[in-house]
Amino acid sequence: MTVIGLGPMGRAMGGAYLDAGYRVTVWNRTASRADELVARGAVRAATVEEALAANEVVVLSLTGYAAMYAVLEPAAAALEGRVLVNLSSDTPENTRAGAVWAARHGARHLTGGVQTPPSGIGSPEFDTFYSGPRDLFERYEDVLKVLTGTDYRGEDPGLAALYYQLQMDLFWTTLTAWLHMLALADANGIKPSEITPYAAGTLGGMGQFLDFYTPRIEAGRHSGDVERISMAVASLDHVVHTTRDSGVDPALPAAVLETFRRGAAEGYEEDSLTRLVEVFGGGAA
Ligand code: NDP
Repeated sequence: MTVIGLGPMGRAMGGAYLDAGYRVTVWNRTASRADELVARGAVRAATVEEALAANEVVVLSLTGYAAMYAVLEPAAAALEGRVLVNLSSDTPENTRAGAVWAARHGARHLTGGVQTPPSGIGSPEFDTFYSGPRDLFERYEDVLKVLTGTDYRGEDPGLAALYYQLQMDLFWTTLTAWLHMLALADANGIKPSEITPYAAGTLGGMGQFLDFYTPRIEAGRHSGDVERISMAVASLDHVVHTTRDSGVDPALPAAVLETFRRGAAEGYEEDSLTRLVEVFGGGAA
């Protein structure tokens, strides 16, 4: 097994393969990041060509696809016959282009979107989205399972990246909402450890909302029988004012309030907040 890219994720991946008894070859632009894995038994490749030659399966864990080109383009002649398991995050379009680029150099490409931080690498309870040739995924599924559980999304190389970016859309905005909540709490003398149990309770209950609203959204039903956009506007306006009164930056809730107001201005004041899927430009109706 070859691992190229030894940020926190690549190092965890190299470690998981060592733990599973694989012979691991590693390469990283900043060579010293390989030291710990080498001390545990990994082989440090002196060049990218050497890393590619060492194994058929090459895991890439780089910041994005631009980094992949920066690393592999100069060594492209050594790509023939390799299987690139590209676990670097990027857009669906860039991952599709990456798969075409790999094929041009005689390599096969699986796209992956890892849904855990480094601490979860090696744990089957976390999943990685994969897409690309099904035969390739099935042939190497056991090797991939050393890292995390697997969730194969389909042949289109962009699909794993798309599912990953969908999850990131939710993840980053939710995490930031929590950080904003902590700032507002702190400005009012409430410690993170005092408010976070309430945050966890709210987030834990979110699944029920999603289950309740999903079939209604798919059926195009946005009736305001449970909540209405007009109520949400008033409620979030209170949050924005509480934030301002506390001397905390209100930009985040104010931006959300703006989208609620847009929904109201487009004539959906009496509808459920779910109408925002359309206001955002989605076609779920
Ligand atoms: P980092 O950005 O810390 O590390 C990425 C690696 O990319 C490093 O080895 C770095 O080399 C290399 N790199 C970046 N640019 C270049 C370049 N131009 N030329 C050569 N090498 C380059 O990322 P992580 O390890 O945290 O994550 C790796 C991937 O996994 C990312 O796509 C990330 O989005 C994704 N991911 C990360 C998670 C996390 O919690 N960290 C969770 C899930 C997915 P060097 O050491 O020399 O700088």
